[in-house]
Amino acid sequence: MIQKTRIHLLNSNQLQNKSYVLYWMQQSQRVDYNHALEYAVIESNRVNLPLIVLFCLTPDFPDANYRHYEFMAQGLIEVKKSLHERGINMFMVNGDPVKEVVLVALNAALLITDRGYLRLQRQWRMNVAAAVKCAMIEIESECIVPVETVSSKEEYTAGTLRPKIQRLLREYLVPLKHNSVKRDSLTAKCDAALFPASTKEIIRLVKPNMTVPAVKWLSGGYIAASERLSSFINHKLDKFGSLRNDPSMDYSSGLSSYIHFGQISTLQIALEVNKTHSPGKDVFLEELIVRRELAYNFVWYNKNYDSYKSLPSWAANTLETHRTDTRKPWYSETQLEKASTYDPYWNAAQREMHIRGKMHGYMRMYWGKKLIEWMSSPADAYAFALYLNNKYELDGRDPNGFAGVAWCFGKHDRAWKERPVFGKVRYMNASGLERKFDIDAYVSKIEAL
Ligand SMILES: Cc1cc2nc3c(=O)[nH]c(=O)nc-3n(C[C@H](O)[C@H](O)[C@H](O)COP(=O)(O)OP(=O)(O)OC[C@H]3O[C@@H](n4cnc5c(N)ncnc54)[C@H](O)[C@@H]3O)c2cc1C
Repeated sequence: MIQKTRIHLLNSNQLQNKSYVLYWMQQSQRVDYNHALEYAVIESNRVNLPLIVLFCLTPDFPDANYRHYEFMAQGLIEVKKSLHERGINMFMVNGDPVKEVVLVALNAALLITDRGYLRLQRQWRMNVAAAVKCAMIEIESECIVPVETVSSKEEYTAGTLRPKIQRLLREYLVPLKHNSVKRDSLTAKCDAALFPASTKEIIRLVKPNMTVPAVKWLSGGYIAASERLSSFINHKLDKFGSLRNDPSMDYSSGLSSYIHFGQISTLQIALEVNKTHSPGKDVFLEELIVRRELAYNFVWYNKNYDSYKSLPSWAANTLETHRTDTRKPWYSETQLEKASTYDPYWNAAQREMHIRGKMHGYMRMYWGKKLIEWMSSPADAYAFALYLNNKYELDGRDPNGFAGVAWCFGKHDRAWKERPVFGKVRYMNASGLERKFDIDAYVSKIEAL
């Protein structure tokens, strides 16, 4: 079932007398639990036209590099194969999505797309909707509860969002079945479109910035994501509540990169976790649903989500009051990027992100806080945290990343006891890590990478 609240008309155009229904897949890069795809199948059956799926590679997506494109490409090759098994053809174009999608939509009776939440993704959809002749409909599939259904405004904290989302879960935490395709689209023609048969070919087309290598420990795609989910449920979920924060252990799901690229749906993850009687279930669902969808609420309603200007006034004011406090030590961006500080824990976290493309969740908080302490101003620290996060994290450039960095500077948090540099923003220090965890074991683990 596709809830009505997931459906957004992006223009007021009519159905055209053309050759196919087009689904422009952008954010939801998967075949299972994809409301936009299922809606497109239902509509193509209704109007008795073949369904074509189109993906537009965008070589210059902000901050994306080889690490990101390789992972995404691995997933897309699988998507093409799975769609083929359902009798649906997928094509690909390469370039500016507004130009390329509009071209392919010239022969579309109807254009469906999924929802993207970041500024550029929203802009693309608005521009495409304004340029095409056919009706364009966006279907929201990345949030378990559609972002505007949960709340019509930016929420202050998880505490204000939680009750709003929880009362809707009965309605939205429901399975999504495949609809069968009545008109096979495998022979349907689609002009100006191609499909590369391998990850290598996709990379050749995109010609990404090669400065950041692909990761070796994780490969993209739904199959790998599903295996990781099963293994997490079977081996880690029970201890998730007690051990997820310990950087020397590995009790988190490791699913964020798959979720970021839309390769697996959080709805599917939540339903599978919800079936268990594991003691870790509630804590995990709090992270996956409440914390994540708070981040989506943030980027959706706060137009400054990628800037220091997004902070609540108490946090901005207190950081401003302490802006001229002496920073000791002070590090340059180069020293920080190269993990050359006096702090072995911070260096290990930076190296983990650099090499593995995924820093441990607890260390992300410590890492962001230290940038406030060591850089010349909080605004510089904010911008640099986003730069590093988006460049190296495989799950970077995500609403969670924008909200995570903002959290380090006071967003979604409360005021604490005033201190130098941080003012009333929450502070974290190395002795906290030493007290709570075997943090040297974490450092050794990273040194061995
Ligand atoms: C400075 C900083 C930067 C961050 N950057 C990113 C980023 O670029 N991309 C990203 O996906 N997350 C980011 N996070 C949030 C969080 O750290 C990661 O989502 C988590 O570590 C991902 O690992 P996992 O999938 O193993 O998480 P698990 O602990 O297994 O959690 C499962 C899922 O719940 C969600 N989740 C968990 N913690 C959070 C959280 N604090 N906020 C929102 N959702 C959460 C994620 O979707 C995650 O995949 C950042 C946090 C901070 C403090």
